[in-house]
Amino acid sequence: MTANATEREVAEVVRAITELGFRAHPMPGATRTAIGITGNKGEIDATRFENLPGVAEAIRVSKPYKLITLDLRPEKTVVRVCDAAIGGTELAIIAGPCAIESREQAFAVAERVQRSGARFFRGGAFKPRSSPYAFAGLGEDALKILAEVREAYGLKIVTEALDEAGIETIESYADVIQIGARSMQNFTLLRCAGRSRLPILLKRGLAATLEEWLLAAEYIMAEGNYQIVLCERGMRTFAQHTRSTLDLAAIPAVRRISHLPIIVDASHGTGKSYMVRPLARAGVAVGADGLMIEVHDHPELARSDGAQALTLDEYDEMIKEVRAIHAVIA
Ligand code: PEP
Ligand code: MN
Repeated sequence: MTANATEREVAEVVRAITELGFRAHPMPGATRTAIGITGNKGEIDATRFENLPGVAEAIRVSKPYKLITLDLRPEKTVVRVCDAAIGGTELAIIAGPCAIESREQAFAVAERVQRSGARFFRGGAFKPRSSPYAFAGLGEDALKILAEVREAYGLKIVTEALDEAGIETIESYADVIQIGARSMQNFTLLRCAGRSRLPILLKRGLAATLEEWLLAAEYIMAEGNYQIVLCERGMRTFAQHTRSTLDLAAIPAVRRISHLPIIVDASHGTGKSYMVRPLARAGVAVGADGLMIEVHDHPELARSDGAQALTLDEYDEMIKEVRAIHAVIA
């Protein structure tokens, strides 16, 4: 739309798109609003829109994804969760244990996470585990503990949904829904996340190309949820010195294509606690909007992912380091 297009003109274009049986995605920007069109099977004749009042131009997006692209929205998306944000000027820190194991554990970690100035607390309630016999999380009991953490410390809660029922349950306890690496191509789940009112943190699949990952984000957006954070968490390679190979080049690569914020998970991205700090520093240095970090008050007793968990003191050290780097590059 032109910079001075009125709300009414935007609404008229949305109506014209809807009447054709397509879906309109109005995206207000700093200077002007773009309206994405999805739902078309083939090419649409651009002249149908070009002459509507307030329309500046009709652009064909020839990439496989549309809504996530800079073509549609040239400025970065800032995902806002009340007074906290991911993608803004502040480095977003999402820290907490792999899984919520008890109220005591969650509170011990949350206290330090809050003291560090982080705004987001993570903790699994429903855990995707490779073995059916492994600890799979405390379920809704964990969500209740997370809600208490939110109340006590003012931290925003990030937790994973494994299925559609999980999304609904999480909506009443948490602030951001995580879609894990193993679920990145669960298309039913993605569509359901797209209908949620909560922002979605979308992890990259273990063997996903950049395009597959961005298309997964497109699935969510196509349903009308534009609040998405991408998370690079490492992928499966032949390397044996790490649990996953953290693909830091994905950060500038995504930036070139998409307006979505992107963060680095240095914990799953390495699998070893001694590597988390250096890779977290590197993630910030390459321009990530934030970090996801697993922290445990007693990593040796952790019921999942203890080997990659930072101790509370290591976490404090890491925060100092990454904030210093962020201050230099910001
Ligand atoms: C997690 O963050 O707890 C998790 C299971 O991560 P991923 O999906 O990246 O393995
Ligand atoms: Mn974990």
